[in-house]
Amino acid sequence: MAYKEILKNSLKSYEDLEKWLTSQKARVDPRLRDVIAKYPMRINTYYLSLIEKVNDGIWKQAVPDVLELEHFMDLTEDPLDEEGDIPLGGPRTIIHRYPDRVLLFVSIECAMYCRFCTRKRKVGDEHKHPSADEINKGIEYIATHDDIRDVLISGGDPLLLGSKKLDDILGRLRQIKHLDLIRIGSRVPCVWPQKIYEDKEFIEMLKKHTPKSLKEPQLFINTHFNHPNEITEQSYQAVKCLRDLGIPIGNQTVLLKGVNDDTDVMRELMHGLGRMGIKPYYLYYADLVEGTGHFRTEVYKGKEICRDLCGATTGFLRPTFVIDAQGGRGKIPVDLGYSDGISEDRKGGTFTSAIGLGKVYVNDPIERVEGKPVRYNPNRK
Ligand code: SF4
Repeated sequence: MAYKEILKNSLKSYEDLEKWLTSQKARVDPRLRDVIAKYPMRINTYYLSLIEKVNDGIWKQAVPDVLELEHFMDLTEDPLDEEGDIPLGGPRTIIHRYPDRVLLFVSIECAMYCRFCTRKRKVGDEHKHPSADEINKGIEYIATHDDIRDVLISGGDPLLLGSKKLDDILGRLRQIKHLDLIRIGSRVPCVWPQKIYEDKEFIEMLKKHTPKSLKEPQLFINTHFNHPNEITEQSYQAVKCLRDLGIPIGNQTVLLKGVNDDTDVMRELMHGLGRMGIKPYYLYYADLVEGTGHFRTEVYKGKEICRDLCGATTGFLRPTFVIDAQGGRGKIPVDLGYSDGISEDRKGGTFTSAIGLGKVYVNDPIERVEGKPVRYNPNRK
């Protein structure tokens, strides 16, 4: 199967990387051997083919950098304290931060190891791969907590598990009556789309788990595109296969220096997602992860980009800019600064037009007047 070859022929070792960098006439730094020993590399041949030039937005996401060995202030292995949200004495496959939803960790493997990954501490590490028993215990935990209504199946990438295993997990989750949503977090539509449109067994398996009535939980896919050059004919085909099954698809993007910290790049990405039928929902401020300091931008950058997009592009293609706060404090939406706040009498407030038409006072409730009101028109004397 061609899609398997794409993964099989990935760059994985220092020698693979050295040979490839030499072919690109790029500098080979021997310290890259240490980078790969610390943080695994996998660049599959499809994602590699998206690179147009040294250090472009695709290169930076995939190709190891010696800066990953540098220490930056405040960066830690697990800044979101995910390990702290594993229930005490409970299964290691559950991260339970919010009362009504959990993350089910099913795989350490990905179709590409993104250099900026929040779970850099465990992706690609064979020793941290969850066993079938640990995954079963995670599902039992969800089944016995009826306040959980939403499960995010994550990793690593759940689509690297193989259809049989994923079928088993989805089948068992679907039996849990208190679940409204089952979400699969996967970068495969972006980094290895052939897996989706060539693997017929996989598509048949997913089809079985799409709901046929309101009584069954909705299956969502959360994917992850960061750069317009990831929007390709292949990724479109993959997304189309999923949409043809009736699966809603949302996208999260991470704000990354040198990749997408630019309004024009971000706008092109959001428009591309729109063409693919994907709803962008979050733009994440990059987490404070050890080994990713060189990707970080100032917070204002994300705010500036989102303000630029406001009024300048389709509303539902604008992601919410959020900071996933350190220590497991959850996702905080960043105020874009269009509101001066609600007035003291709580009836209205002053807001700034996102298309540059000044400030406006919005008042509610309105008052009843005698006769037909004449609308104020500033252009008519
Ligand atoms: S696919 Fe997701 S989990 Fe895997 S390395 Fe990339 S960002 Fe991390």
